[in-house]
Amino acid sequence: MTASGGGFLRVRVLRSGSAGNAILVEACGTRLLVDAGIPLELVERELAPLGLEATDLSAILLTHEHDDHARGAGAVARAAGIPVLANERTLRHAAGALGGVATERFTTGVPFRLGAFTVDPFPVPHDAVEPVGFVIEVDGLRVVVAHDLGAVDGVLRERLPVADLILLEANYDPRLLSVSAYPWFLKNRILGPTGHLSNESAAQAAVWAARGRKAQTILLLHLSEVNNLPPLARDVVRWALEREGVTTTQVHAVRPPGGGPLWEAGLEPPSVP
Ligand SMILES: [Zn+2]
Ligand SMILES: [Zn+2]
Repeated sequence: MTASGGGFLRVRVLRSGSAGNAILVEACGTRLLVDAGIPLELVERELAPLGLEATDLSAILLTHEHDDHARGAGAVARAAGIPVLANERTLRHAAGALGGVATERFTTGVPFRLGAFTVDPFPVPHDAVEPVGFVIEVDGLRVVVAHDLGAVDGVLRERLPVADLILLEANYDPRLLSVSAYPWFLKNRILGPTGHLSNESAAQAAVWAARGRKAQTILLLHLSEVNNLPPLARDVVRWALEREGVTTTQVHAVRPPGGGPLWEAGLEPPSVP
């Protein structure tokens, strides 16, 4: 099947934050859930305004096995009768949450077809067994998902400038983190190279992404409810872009533990000979 047929690529962050993450990516009848760290009931409640039910989903993709990304995957996959896709090590470590549902393996670094989409699972630095981000592509439109990572490395930098929509972690403000009541071991984990991204690191990534000279949208995800504020995260990234003279990038911060705005882009209609 070719993806071309007109229509829309639709993306909606159903939930983002340490309480649970799930993102819907839909085009041409293929509906992917990237991570399912929330209960089935919440997935269904968030899908309803889009005119969808869990049984309309095609597959679940897991970035990594942490509870806030995988805890609902088994229940959603069972209710929808769909497979969970992840790399071998993530599937093994998430086995408790998956409870016997159908699983399919992908290999980190090897792109594959999934319905209307091409999916590129790329490695990210994070303290899970084999964490990945995704580039999800249809008809030349690319969505980059990178929402638990300790640093923006060359692998991600390569993928940012060609993206149309970037779902990027902006977990903490360093000043709020330093004065918060979090214990030091946790602060050090968050600050470390395999922990989480600061607003400043997200801002640097946004500036780098703008090198591609595309009209991009960036949704800032996985904001800490303790160590960050959505307007602050958004403004740190916007100001960095403004300083570089970038005016074409839209930036929104998704308030935890809620969902984000609906992002849509038209797909090319098939050419008539
Ligand atoms: Zn994680
Ligand atoms: Zn997480």
